[in-house]
Amino acid sequence: MVEYKSERLVLLHIPNSIGPDRTILLKAEISDQLIKLCKCLLAIYANQVQLHDNKERDLLTRLPNRQSFDLRLFQVCEYFREHHLSDAVQDKGSWIAMLDIDHFKAVNDSFGHLYGDEVLLHFSQIMEKNFRYNDFLFRFGGEEFIVILNLVDMASAKEVFQRFRETIAQFKFPTVGRVTVSIGVTHIDSNALPASLLDYADKALYHAKGAGRNQVVFYEDMDIEVLAEDDSDVELF
Ligand code: GH3
Ligand code: MG
Ligand code: MG
Repeated sequence: MVEYKSERLVLLHIPNSIGPDRTILLKAEISDQLIKLCKCLLAIYANQVQLHDNKERDLLTRLPNRQSFDLRLFQVCEYFREHHLSDAVQDKGSWIAMLDIDHFKAVNDSFGHLYGDEVLLHFSQIMEKNFRYNDFLFRFGGEEFIVILNLVDMASAKEVFQRFRETIAQFKFPTVGRVTVSIGVTHIDSNALPASLLDYADKALYHAKGAGRNQVVFYEDMDIEVLAEDDSDVELF
C-alpha cells in the first residue's frame, strides 16, 4: 500500500493455482476500515475465480478447455454476424486453427503417459509464447489444440502458423526429442455457423495429415475437387 497526498494506492493480489493470477488496483481516499472490508470481499472473490477456472480450464495445461472454446466460438461468430464484417480473406479478420500433434500415440507407447503429458505441457507453453495476447488458445481434448487468431489477413495468418509449426518441429522436448504438429485452418466468415467452421478446419487438418504431417493447410486453398470427393464419402442413409 502506498500513500499519495490524501489518496491511497492499494494493490490486492489473487494467486491462482489453475488459471492466471489476478491483481486489483484501488486508487481512492480509502480508510483502514474500508481496506479491511475489501480484503474480506477479496477472499470471497478469490474463491469465485478459483471455481470459475476449475470449470473453464484444462487441469494439465491450464489452457481454457473445450467447454470454454464452444462458448467463445459462438461469441466470435455472433460478433462477426452482428457487425457485418468484411469476409474478404485479404482483409484483417479471424482464423480458426485445429492443431493435432503427429503420431502422439507412438510417444505414449515409447515413453509412457507421463512423458506424453510433459509434451502436452511444453506444447501449450510454446503456444502461449508464440501467439499474441489477443488470440484465443484452447486445449480441445487429448493432443488436439485450437487457436482463434484475431485481426490478421490471410498472408499473415499463413506466416504465423508456419512459424509456429517450425518452432515445434525444432524444439527438443525433454526425453522425447522431436515432435511435429499438423494444422488445419479456416477463415471465420460472418455467415458461417460454429459447427461448419470446425468441420472446415477439421477437413484441412485431415489433408495436412494425408499430405505427410508437419504441414499447415488452409481450407480456402483446398481444391474444390478434393472437397467434393470428401463429401461423396459421406453416407446419409
Ligand atoms: P496422428 O498423427 O494421425 O494424429 O496420430 P496420433 O497417434 O497422434 O493420433 P491418435 O488419435 O491415434 O492418438 C492420439 C493419442 O493421444 C491416443 C491417446 O492415448 C493420447 N492421448 C490423449 N489424451 C492424452 C493425455 O491427456 N495424455 C497423454 N499422455 N496422452 C493422451
Ligand atoms: Mg488427434
Ligand atoms: Mg495426433
